[in-house]
Amino acid sequence: MQDQELKAALKAYYNFEEFRKPQQEIIKSILNKQDTIGILPTGTGKSLCYQLPGILTKNLTLVISPLVALMKDQVDTLNQRGVPTISLNSHLTPKNMREAIEGIIDDRYKIIYLAPEKLFSEDFKEVVKTLAIDHIAIDEAHCISQWGHDFRPKYKKIALALKELPIRPTISAFTATANQKVLEDIIKLLDLREPKIYQTSFNRPNLYLDVKLYQDKGKYLLSYLKNLKETDRGLVYCNTRGEVERIYKKLRENNIQAGMYHAGLKKKERQEVQDEFFNDQYQVLIATNAFGMGLDKEDLTFIIHYNMPANLESYYQEIGRGGRGGQPCSCILLFGLKDVIVNKALGQERVYFKWRLEEKKAQLKEITDFAHTEKCYKAVLLKHFGEELEHCGNCGNCLGSFKERDATQEAQMILSTVYHTKGYYGSGTITAILKGKKTAKVKEKYLDQLSVYGLLKKEREEFIYYLTARLELDGYLEKKQNSKFDEQILITKEGLELLKGQKKLVLNIRES
Ligand code: ADP
Repeated sequence: MQDQELKAALKAYYNFEEFRKPQQEIIKSILNKQDTIGILPTGTGKSLCYQLPGILTKNLTLVISPLVALMKDQVDTLNQRGVPTISLNSHLTPKNMREAIEGIIDDRYKIIYLAPEKLFSEDFKEVVKTLAIDHIAIDEAHCISQWGHDFRPKYKKIALALKELPIRPTISAFTATANQKVLEDIIKLLDLREPKIYQTSFNRPNLYLDVKLYQDKGKYLLSYLKNLKETDRGLVYCNTRGEVERIYKKLRENNIQAGMYHAGLKKKERQEVQDEFFNDQYQVLIATNAFGMGLDKEDLTFIIHYNMPANLESYYQEIGRGGRGGQPCSCILLFGLKDVIVNKALGQERVYFKWRLEEKKAQLKEITDFAHTEKCYKAVLLKHFGEELEHCGNCGNCLGSFKERDATQEAQMILSTVYHTKGYYGSGTITAILKGKKTAKVKEKYLDQLSVYGLLKKEREEFIYYLTARLELDGYLEKKQNSKFDEQILITKEGLELLKGQKKLVLNIRES
């Protein structure tokens, strides 16, 4: 198909003038019957890449997608544009399902959206073998991989169902996760044949990134929101419903208009909040990550993470909702000690398999390292997605001023505290001991009797936290998991050298 014809179809069905990079290449690859993978950041326009081939090929296109809400949106839009489309998902009643399948057998549709489990469901698995299918698109393809941030076991069975088809259609897979292991899994588990891989940069220059370490988060948020410009709009992400409600209440008490969104609200309430926010009834929405899938509010100018996200993929996706219209957007991650503890607990709660636990811990370490880095935040983030970047020039570290500080003595005191407590206390208690605080733990375990108690009384508490985290990040301390709930901090060989004064620790500390 000629480029001109593709452009005409883009105009006719979507009313867009130009393809975004690399939509056209992807579409042509699929139309050439070539297995194709698109690794494109959220918001780039993945759906068009599989829908347009669906419109332009003679026979059917199946789209496998895990998100029912998103599916519904896309089905409605395609039907409005004159492309007969239907979705098969678990929300259909048996009667609706029967009618839908009859329609499919009658050849009434051009595109069928499917939840993965429908591929091998009793009512559809025989029918699918009789259909003339040109192309199967698998959206959110990272769900097939255990290395992805959203593994769904049902995705793994897709390949089995595909093998049963009498004629193998062209297969395309889309994701916003470019991790190499995930990519290898997608190719292997979907049994893709010499797929063409298209990938765009994950760099979003208009997003300003910064991390605020160990600050009073509530105070920071209030002051941030009180200083908004009239045109500012944004999201505050929290990890739990409880936290969303707590912050919402606090903002209300301080006369800040806000909305609140989490999965515990009724469907109707959620829709209302979403509408209000889209209609600019308030400038800020406090939400869990339940908010945002498929969301496209273009004018967001700030995204604040009140808690640390579970991994860098989620973080990237969530900040990716800002600055969609090309305007600058500040993405601030508030990072506190409690986040590490809470995330770890959530991880343990939700994890049943040991390998999942290991993976969660690795992800937690990646995002903790990100938060504590003195390098360019974007470079560190993009490296995770396989991209090299020197300095972005638009993040807290690139724009901040640093001062060297010899922290050898303070580091020695921390190491010594770890030594005296045999590594059985985390950074919270280590800080409390050195700061000379009388916390419940300190009192209960008589930690105020230790010779190191109160040694850093004059130091800022945040700095002691920070330094403890840095010592782990830089390999002076190491965590060892003795059992599921028993973790010990060990002093490494380098740590011992530092403790004995055989080397110095000079840090670059951000001043602004
Ligand atoms: P993704 O699945 O990659 O997150 P979507 O498919 O939801 O992204 O598309 C994001 C937005 O970009 C949608 O509003 C879509 O209409 C718009 N879009 C996609 N392609 C184009 C294009 N070529 N020109 C203008 N807008 C586009």
